[in-house]
Amino acid sequence: MTIIDLRSDTVTRPNEQMLMAMIEAEVGDDVYGDDPTVNRLQKIAAEVAGMEAALFVPSGTQSNLIGLMTHCQRGDEYIVGQDAHTYKYEAGGAAVLGSIQPQPIVFEADGSLDLDKVKAVIKPDDAHFARSRLLCLENTQSGKVLSMRYLKAAGEFAQKEGLLLHLDGARVAHAAVELNVSIAEICQPFDSVSICLSKGLGAPVGSVLCGSENFIKQAKRWRKMLGGGMRQAGILAAAGIIALQDNIKTLADDHRKADELADNLANLKGITVLGGQAYTNMLFIQCEPTLSVSIADDLKKKGILINAPTNGVIRLVVHRDLSDLYLKIFFDVLSELAQKAA
Ligand SMILES: *Cc1c(COP(=O)(O)O)cnc(C)c1O
Repeated sequence: MTIIDLRSDTVTRPNEQMLMAMIEAEVGDDVYGDDPTVNRLQKIAAEVAGMEAALFVPSGTQSNLIGLMTHCQRGDEYIVGQDAHTYKYEAGGAAVLGSIQPQPIVFEADGSLDLDKVKAVIKPDDAHFARSRLLCLENTQSGKVLSMRYLKAAGEFAQKEGLLLHLDGARVAHAAVELNVSIAEICQPFDSVSICLSKGLGAPVGSVLCGSENFIKQAKRWRKMLGGGMRQAGILAAAGIIALQDNIKTLADDHRKADELADNLANLKGITVLGGQAYTNMLFIQCEPTLSVSIADDLKKKGILINAPTNGVIRLVVHRDLSDLYLKIFFDVLSELAQKAA
């Protein structure tokens, strides 16, 4: 049975071009710095981010953790969104493994952190307090794109307040495509950025952490400590190169498909599209209780996977392995279920 999977863009599988590149990759021991394909990926990633250097790591979670541990010492604090991945969805790694205290504040509706609210939680230099060291932003934040104006203001703010600035840019490529700017332009105010290769960009594994030469040199030690030093990793990096070189431009098609899906779903009785629109490649829907009660199980029987609702809300994620035909099948099945539930 065909599996139509809207749970996440992490479900994308390497295509034939990637698999061929992986087979043909020239490899070496990357812990010795000997893997030419990893070195090439890191060079390309640094260029894409407009930073001096980059480090290939197994996951976005490790990438963010290495970033935080490189910037912050034991007893430092990072300011972060209450629902941010680096705070809520990374098993508390910064606190547990980094001895870095999180200071979460609530995201604004547009996915930004209000800089006045950030300012209010920065602690004075006093023995009672952790040292406020770093501000961590997320772009896209649940699909929402931070404006260039906001990023510029955040950069100036961080500089003025003496905070380092890290971007969890798991989906920063989606933001760049949506705004029609380069990833480097988005990264410009930041000291470091983490980019996922294994989500919408389609690579099977991996993220890249980008920053200054000196930052990456220190980050490499943390990567080793956290178990992220890989050997013939060129096999994976080869897929990452295609992710960065060929698969960014096709994200526009994912955004178009998400927009069309949102428009179509908005016409279904019993379904509300939150915000009335898709955000880059994501949309969030709310269903009537009679429909939502068993919606994930009902769809699964038809070969369609979605996450069960959280607080009545379902996140749908569009990606390169969802063709227009697959999305039409999803829409037709859901519309049938909605009619039955009405
Ligand atoms: C997925 C994700 C990560 C972590 O990536 P993994 O490779 O799954 O560890 C970090 N931040 C955001 C915003 C993400 O969506």
